[in-house]
Amino acid sequence: MQSTRFVGKNVLITGASSGIGEAIAIRFAQEGANVAINYHSGADRAEAVRAKCAEANPKGKMITVKADVADEQDVINMYAATLKEFGTLDVLINNSGIQKPAASDKVEMADYDKVIGVNLRGAFICAREAIKHFLSRGAKGSIVFNSSVHEIIPKPKYVPYSISKGGMENMTKSLALEYADKGIRVNACGPGAIVTPINMAWINDPKAKSEVESHIPMGRAGTSEEIAGVFAFLASDEASYITGQTLFACGGLTLYPEFRVAWSSGE
Ligand code: NAD
Repeated sequence: MQSTRFVGKNVLITGASSGIGEAIAIRFAQEGANVAINYHSGADRAEAVRAKCAEANPKGKMITVKADVADEQDVINMYAATLKEFGTLDVLINNSGIQKPAASDKVEMADYDKVIGVNLRGAFICAREAIKHFLSRGAKGSIVFNSSVHEIIPKPKYVPYSISKGGMENMTKSLALEYADKGIRVNACGPGAIVTPINMAWINDPKAKSEVESHIPMGRAGTSEEIAGVFAFLASDEASYITGQTLFACGGLTLYPEFRVAWSSGE
């Protein structure tokens, strides 16, 4: 990756010690950014990502910063630590997310609160702090949320997750509208089925994986690297006239795959 789109830019990525967040961190480093790698647990994994970022961009500054994004004080401390090292911030990637599957009639409210707490409340606190900083600088800034195809596709047995991503769509649009005239762009990427730890239930089981992939028009799950490229685009000046949008990167999952065959008109 030889692009220099983010040389000298400072980027904070939440949940960057694994999966899509890790790939995004490496992608930004490859494109010249200084990267703050937020992690919730597992300092070793965060340090390993930091080392990969440093290898990708030896001239850049790569730091790890621990925080629970659902905890307001933790997030405030995360920004303080990041700004102490970088001085300023140009891009926030709001990537952290969790899911807890359960039939809706059996959902424990503690689990509900946890999922909404990380995915929606956490994303809002992180965005609020980024916006505060962008406004204080009077400089341009970009926020990209990690949403999901479940922003628009219902997900039975994952209702708290589905609600969180649906809410993220409105958060993306509302924040984009509120701050468009301040040079702050807010967008989201909506991945489909991507090979990451959140999908442990099927990624290492060939039968389950093939069942998942049978529903995807392009016939395969996506990679974290494919998703990282979308985040880099949306955060970059190449997307300078795009705000309030979700770009779905899903191999066609949002295209009503059941209509691949003309079953509805009797043909
Ligand atoms: P992942 O489990 O590897 O990543 C989730 C990250 O969030 C982890 O690094 C985890 O440590 C972090 N996290 C969890 N709780 C946190 C907290 N309280 N504070 C800070 N960080 C916390 O899985 P992933 O697939 O890379 O997921 C990343 C994002 O992508 C999520 O928002 C997820 O909803 C979204 N997404 C994933 C897929 C997919 O198929 N993998 C599809 C659509 C959307």
